[in-house]
Amino acid sequence: MIIVMKNNTPLSEVERLVQELESPTVTPEKSVGQQKVIIGLGGDTAALDSRHTQQLSPFIEKVLRINKPFKKASLEFRYGEPMTVSVSTPNGPVLFGSNHPVVNIAGPCSVENEAMIVETARRVKASGAQLLRGGAYKPRTSPYSFQGHGESALGLLQKAKEITGLGIVTEVMDAADLTKIAAVADVIQIGARNMQNFALLKQVGLLNKPVLLKRGMAATIEDWLMAAEYIMAGGNSNVILCERGIRGFDRKYTRNTLDLSAIPVLRDLTHLPIVIDPSHATGKSEYVSPMAKAAIAADADGLMIEVHPDPARALSDGPQSLTPERYSLLMKELATMCKAVGRPEQAPVQAASDFKAHSILAL
Ligand code: PEP
Ligand code: MN
Repeated sequence: MIIVMKNNTPLSEVERLVQELESPTVTPEKSVGQQKVIIGLGGDTAALDSRHTQQLSPFIEKVLRINKPFKKASLEFRYGEPMTVSVSTPNGPVLFGSNHPVVNIAGPCSVENEAMIVETARRVKASGAQLLRGGAYKPRTSPYSFQGHGESALGLLQKAKEITGLGIVTEVMDAADLTKIAAVADVIQIGARNMQNFALLKQVGLLNKPVLLKRGMAATIEDWLMAAEYIMAGGNSNVILCERGIRGFDRKYTRNTLDLSAIPVLRDLTHLPIVIDPSHATGKSEYVSPMAKAAIAADADGLMIEVHPDPARALSDGPQSLTPERYSLLMKELATMCKAVGRPEQAPVQAASDFKAHSILAL
């Protein structure tokens, strides 16, 4: 259920109403949009009567029920206003959402050693990326494949962050690792394989930190939004959706099938920001750039791209990783795409030399 307040309602009245509505089963959430102030009611609102709620204040314009299984994730919950998810990084806040420039996340599939993660961080930053990705805990199909360096890789991500000022995106697979991951990560990634790990979703729902929620490889859009709802129901509204390709029948030429139609569909259904991962979607480096450009044309709010300084020697996902040179070229092409579709320009990032205070590693 949402409550739409009349224009020019005093904020003190909104606060009073929020307090009045608060109960052990109902959690009111105020959102101040460009046009309207909305109070979204999460939790069990079935027992609330719309007409009775309408009478709680003369400043209430209308009370609307949300007729979708996902409530807080629905577009209606914010009365059509897109959500901004703000990621704090040493370089300043990075904003995800359809009112903001496209956010670029780049880095290797997994953190292999200090030199490679720091070099990759520097190179992708120089190309214009705002966030560094890199797996410390890797979900691998085979138990005999490289599983990630775990905790020591978190330390290396922290170093790369200190040197470049880039925020960190890294995956959690097990709730037992969440505290140490959250100490380094600025965005916590839930991978495709864990999209419906409800125990894990509930745990990240208790954090006050952005979550990048990847679409499960056989998840419907509704399954995916219900997974987002699990996180939001716990009180964490900072969810970013990431389409990374779904299982198709032709796996010979592409690893997955990138569902770009998810972007306009999600725009109709949710206020949450949408990121596209063309690396896992295609599985082949030569197809990453065309699909990244297509994602911008289809109105994505961000891109997550795997970049490795030496893809042929990568410990995971080398075949789909771009070299730093190729990534730099792609970023130039993407700037043209952004201009063509009228997406606002990204503010230039600070130079790495602004972080002299931190230890500079010899590479
Ligand atoms: C990843 O981004 O490193 C990853 C494992 O992706 P996915 O969960 O989409 O397979
Ligand atoms: Mn990968």
